[in-house]
Amino acid sequence: MESAEYWRKRLEEAQESPSNPRSQPSAGVSACLLGWACRYDGRSKVDPEMLERYERGELLPLCPETQGGLPIPRPPAGLAGGAGAQVWEGKARVLDRQGADLTRAFQAGAQAVARALQERGIKRVYLKQHSPSCGSGSTGGADGKRRAGDGVACALLRHLGLEIIARG
Ligand code: SF4
Repeated sequence: MESAEYWRKRLEEAQESPSNPRSQPSAGVSACLLGWACRYDGRSKVDPEMLERYERGELLPLCPETQGGLPIPRPPAGLAGGAGAQVWEGKARVLDRQGADLTRAFQAGAQAVARALQERGIKRVYLKQHSPSCGSGSTGGADGKRRAGDGVACALLRHLGLEIIARG
């Protein structure tokens, strides 16, 4: 299993200077949908269509949890007290299964992802469904159950006016 540092470096490189010099990403994508093993459990959730489009240079990989400095693997985490929008209002938190408060890391990663998209003028993102960061309309609760609402990164990107497309 590759470390979080490995994936952070790959994300940084992809966001700073695309490996394909002709690439002009027109949308962002959750990196785990490209087969990048940056999920909490050190696995990915490859989406062949997303991978094909990434290989054509059309998509910019993003992973808010990795970019927020979290390790891989790590205990699963979810939202408590509300969904992503309520986290930004200070009314909800992100807790892992051991009770650790990861709210600040989730917010820092979401802001890093938003910056990467804004610097390139990208207005559309394909986000992994049901994640406490990337989920749109359905996210993960701290009790391990799905709940209605956006994840932390998705809520920020929606607030900034990006078009959100759920995948996975
Ligand atoms: S769902 Fe989002 S935060 Fe979770 S591994 Fe995929 S890209 Fe990273």
